[in-house]
Amino acid sequence: MVGSAIVRRLLAQGVPEDDIVTHTRAELDLTNQAAVRAFFANAQIDEVYLAAAKVGGIHANNTQPAEFIYENLVIEANVIDAAFRSGVKRLLFLGSSCIYPKLAEQPMREDALLTGTLEPTNEPYAIAKIAGIKLCESYNRQYGESHGIDYRSAMPTNLYGPGDNYDLESSHVIPALLRKFHEAKVADAAEVVVWGTGTPRREFLYVDDMAEACIHLMQLPKSEYDKHTEPMLSHINVGFGDDVSIGELAGIIAGVVGFDGDIVCDTNRPDGTPRKLLDSSRLRSTGWQPRIGLEQGLRLTYADFRLSKAT
Ligand code: GDP
Repeated sequence: MVGSAIVRRLLAQGVPEDDIVTHTRAELDLTNQAAVRAFFANAQIDEVYLAAAKVGGIHANNTQPAEFIYENLVIEANVIDAAFRSGVKRLLFLGSSCIYPKLAEQPMREDALLTGTLEPTNEPYAIAKIAGIKLCESYNRQYGESHGIDYRSAMPTNLYGPGDNYDLESSHVIPALLRKFHEAKVADAAEVVVWGTGTPRREFLYVDDMAEACIHLMQLPKSEYDKHTEPMLSHINVGFGDDVSIGELAGIIAGVVGFDGDIVCDTNRPDGTPRKLLDSSRLRSTGWQPRIGLEQGLRLTYADFRLSKAT
């Protein structure tokens, strides 16, 4: 989802299609070290956007912890090291707001990293993403001057938009609810079930805004990036700036889809972390801001969902 949005944005900025190299999982298995090294050795890459990851919602993270930690650690280690070995000077690693402690002060600043215990439902994923930041920092610290490398990290809040995963067990909350409300409307059902208590608060960013932020961060002059980071605190938050409760989100999605039945909470499902709102003032002070509000983004995403069902 994020990789496609970055490609759309680069093309819109006038980057020639031939200059952008993408590979599907079937073409290049990023968990295969030899394949990743061979790819970088032959491809003459200048810049890497590392958006590839094993991702999923609260249930997927909770039930496949081994896959979430293993695949993410291996993908990051393979790509970052192979990029370095082949002479790539610029790389942007994409992490997640779940790197911060479960009870971090809200909104969460970059320096909350490693100050407390993580949310248990996604701790393995978070540990892998923290390792990714530390990989970038460690390569910068050891090889930054000698090899002229500059590897950066962006920590997005919860993302949504075209190209998301709509599988009800493994998806995040927005694609799950868009699908549930759509199917309930089509079937004229009386109610839709929302997991948890509906009280957790989440911040949501439309994926095209995230893509713009990624390119902005990649293109920021080194002196400007360094002004807002430290060698061992080098990541930058990418958030929308506002959050909603899951109950409020369900109400907005019901409106977007046109469902007017009841919304019921299933408290046997986990809530996860109580609140996840990023402090994105560092990024804002470099000149980036989001363009797409939640309701507008949900309408665009719902249109994409309906299109994907029609084709
Ligand atoms: P999280 O931000 O890592 O917790 O990931 P999710 O996007 O999966 O879940 C966010 C919140 O939405 C949690 O409190 C979930 O319990 C809640 N939620 C409500 N209904 C659903 C649903 O149908 N699917 C998912 N994935 N989450 C839901």
